[in-house]
Amino acid sequence: MAHIVITGCNRGIGLELVRQYTARGDTVTAVCRHAGPELGATGATILEGIDVATDDGIARLAEALCDTPIDVLLNNAGILRSDTFETLDFDAMLEQYKVNTLGPLRVTRALSDNLSAGSKIAIVSSRVGSIEDNGSGNNYGYRASKTAVNQVGMNLKHDFEDRGVAVAILHPGLVATDMTGGTGIAPGDAARGLVDRIDELTLETSGGFWHAEGYRLPW
Ligand code: NDP
Repeated sequence: MAHIVITGCNRGIGLELVRQYTARGDTVTAVCRHAGPELGATGATILEGIDVATDDGIARLAEALCDTPIDVLLNNAGILRSDTFETLDFDAMLEQYKVNTLGPLRVTRALSDNLSAGSKIAIVSSRVGSIEDNGSGNNYGYRASKTAVNQVGMNLKHDFEDRGVAVAILHPGLVATDMTGGTGIAPGDAARGLVDRIDELTLETSGGFWHAEGYRLPW
């Protein structure tokens, strides 16, 4: 039985990740800003009131987990603020950078001492962060925040490899959540793919960028 810590758990992909890990018997700490009844029904331990973009939220997260060992740290919380060249909003771009890029880094640094040989760090990024795969443009802020978090993930691979901790950078697919207005595959299917990729992750494959379906994505 592993201890899984997941951010952004009250809805969408995060909620499904909590459901699947708890269903198979893992111990889950579900980190969120506001818990709802669906999360409460999973049986996970809920850490509420944690905003991953704030020092205060991260400090309370670290305090709550204290020296509890973590097997999988799953950075899932994220936001999308759609834009085009015509509608660029630089404050919204910074907001996305704070949540999508710095959030996983802050959380991982704060919980660094809870990770040890065999632990894994996962970042739910997006294929729209791939420069090579950018065939359609738009969403400057979101794309750039995900490109940047991919770089964060690769740096974490280097910083943690001597400690025996592997890092996965993951794309869940286009998933029907609030973020996409309900367009895409079922969150449960996406979560299943993410769980499989994390299960497969080793130090040898650490630092890869994968689609939840199992194939590598270009940077
Ligand atoms: P949702 O909008 O459904 O859920 C986002 C989750 O992140 C919510 O739990 C939300 O909490 C949480 N969150 C947002 N900002 C913060 C914050 N500052 N601090 C703590 N929690 C926060 O999105 P998805 O489930 O679709 O997305 C999950 C991840 O998957 C994201 O990183 C997203 O970028 C990524 N992704 C999603 C895709 C899709 O097609 N859906 C495609 C590619 C990547 P709250 O309810 O409090 O706002």
